[in-house]
Amino acid sequence: MIDFEALFKISYGLYVVSSGNKDQGSAYIANTFSQMTSEPPQFAIFCSKNNYTTELIKASGVYAVSVLAQDAPPEIIGRFGFRSGRDFDKLEGMNLTFGTTGCPIVLNNAIAFMECKVINTIDVGTHMMFIGQLLKSELLDGEAEPLTYAYYRNIRKGFAPKNAPTYIDKSKFEKKISGNFGKYECTACGYIFNEETGDPDNHIKAGTTFGELPAGWTCPICGAEKEDFILL
Ligand code: FE
Repeated sequence: MIDFEALFKISYGLYVVSSGNKDQGSAYIANTFSQMTSEPPQFAIFCSKNNYTTELIKASGVYAVSVLAQDAPPEIIGRFGFRSGRDFDKLEGMNLTFGTTGCPIVLNNAIAFMECKVINTIDVGTHMMFIGQLLKSELLDGEAEPLTYAYYRNIRKGFAPKNAPTYIDKSKFEKKISGNFGKYECTACGYIFNEETGDPDNHIKAGTTFGELPAGWTCPICGAEKEDFILL
């Protein structure tokens, strides 16, 4: 048997993985990033084949990893983790620096970053594993704690987005009783849409069901899409 609760005991951090160059770049949120060896310093990331950033890593052969601070706001998780770089420029308006290769590096809410050159790529099914050799790293804030995936899940009540290697499909466990108003929670930031009250601040009137929300509706706090909500 496979007990998914056992998998939640694996510890991870939360990172912004970016790639591209000075003209074009994108980034996504990863929890599966780890150091493989120290001599030389080599790292591994696992990126969904659906991620736009994966295409950029393949094309450029570089990626950067920014370590998020524990107090990183939900907007950052939503922007990079729950929306696609094909739909909008995730790096626009962000505080960026560029690595030795020109790879964009996200500094917002980051406490450290590493820039890596891809030295090996392994197809692991739904994801690509990119093994990288360290080119540059910098500690940005030696005092702040890094955000861990456990903290994000347990304290912040966040979940993994669909493209994460550790995603678990919660919809299998949910069933709304028809006729009753339901509440839907954004798995990125914790915002709750209540069908009974609607969201008057955002011009959604009371009694609007989740299914009736207009096409293209996204979380008013973090921008996550409808499928990233779960029924409470
Ligand atoms: Fe949200």
